Amino acid sequence: MTDPTHDLLRHDTLLLVPGVTLTSDGPLDRQAVLVRGGVFDDVGPVERLLRAHPSLTPVRLPEHVLMPGFVDTHHHLTQSFGGALAFGEPSEIFRRVWVPLERALDEESAYVAAKLAALESLRGGFTTVAESGTRAAVDVDVVASATRDAGIRCVLGLVCNDASDGTGADADARVVLAAAERHLARYGGADLVHPSLAVSVPEAATAATLAATARLAADAGAVVQIHVNEHLVAVERSLVRHGLRPLEYLHQVGSLGPQLLAAHATLLTPSEVTLLADSGAAVSYNPVASAWKGNAVAPATLFAERGVRFGLGTDGTRGDGFRLADAAEFAQRLTYGLASGDSSCGAGWTWLERATAGGADAAGLGGLTGRVAPGAAADFLLVDVGGPEMQPSWDLPWELVRRGNRDQLTAVFVAGRMRLWRGWPPDWDGPALVRRAAELGRRVVRRAQVVRAHPTSMAARNRAATAPPRFPAPPPTRRGPR
Ligand SMILES: [Zn+2]
Repeated sequence: MTDPTHDLLRHDTLLLVPGVTLTSDGPLDRQAVLVRGGVFDDVGPVERLLRAHPSLTPVRLPEHVLMPGFVDTHHHLTQSFGGALAFGEPSEIFRRVWVPLERALDEESAYVAAKLAALESLRGGFTTVAESGTRAAVDVDVVASATRDAGIRCVLGLVCNDASDGTGADADARVVLAAAERHLARYGGADLVHPSLAVSVPEAATAATLAATARLAADAGAVVQIHVNEHLVAVERSLVRHGLRPLEYLHQVGSLGPQLLAAHATLLTPSEVTLLADSGAAVSYNPVASAWKGNAVAPATLFAERGVRFGLGTDGTRGDGFRLADAAEFAQRLTYGLASGDSSCGAGWTWLERATAGGADAAGLGGLTGRVAPGAAADFLLVDVGGPEMQPSWDLPWELVRRGNRDQLTAVFVAGRMRLWRGWPPDWDGPALVRRAAELGRRVVRRAQVVRAHPTSMAARNRAATAPPRFPAPPPTRRGPR
């Protein structure tokens, strides 16, 4: 097995010769990739690139796949201290767990929580995360610093709620929109931070602010992240209040458009799928979130067929790109494929493409990242495919989706720089951060007014063991002869 040396890969200019390069045209062998100035400077046949750059020493990686980094189109970086606190909980966890947890964060703990999440994401092969807006009472630049220091690209949402959604008071729309304008002008993207606006759920902002955020983001080339049609109770509240489902309501108030990144969109009528396709709005399909706390699975195979833009998101469940792509296919197969006898179910390529280029497009970075092509940001993974799980290879996209694993990641690059080498950052102390997070996380959770409906799994087991019988016990039978 080839062991690419760490030192060779730490140069600013790299001439890489992987076994396979995953391009927009599919997996290609005999390709070389020139990384320079943070971008893919050239991609093409090995012989041509070697001839064109005789002064560069090629780094040969015959048992590696060079592929675009995964894009997580929906994350909550400052919820990372929560983790299993949400397991087993019924829907709308944000009211009972996430919002109290985030509000208990101070500047240091918010930074550490976000950096912990960023490290987990990098370890799972994500090179971009869309952060959908923290509710922590800190300057959102704390989150920007954490992701920048970790070395991951971040689409950074600023919460623009100006109506109470049951988790906070109304805010002054003028103040909210002024902050939105400042946020959109604050980051240039050069330092891996791409500003974005966020509204937690449609009911958390007034109609005027929903429309205004859409306009501001569209003008700035940014996205607005909104949780849409995720839970049945929210759909029903919207129907009672407006006579419209949340997505229909966003359409009515003028916030449906290519700038919208709708998280979840699981509970959709056929006409809402048409609204998404016609408006050019994008969706973050979050299959693990559906399994862990949702009411439905987004009809993503249908999205692909109908031309709805979408990527894949974790929603902070677990930062593992391979398991996310696998879950994306698996959830479609169980909910739609089995019922219709669709044994292809998008094939491997659909889910790999949505986990990378599709996600970049949905997050508003389609022109920048998500593919291995000249001019694109050099956000990529070196995946070791020399192990028994991946050989012999017959269909690489599907093998990566179904059998790929983060322990195969030899290195993760963002903007042409190595950010992870065999699971850990080469230039900052990852294990120390994890230790600090474990310590701070316990303190924050103790402080937060988290309300859980579900006991821990062991308490659930004990409860089940001592639970009273559901039906009246039958009368005792008499023993012995009558
Ligand atoms: Zn979310």
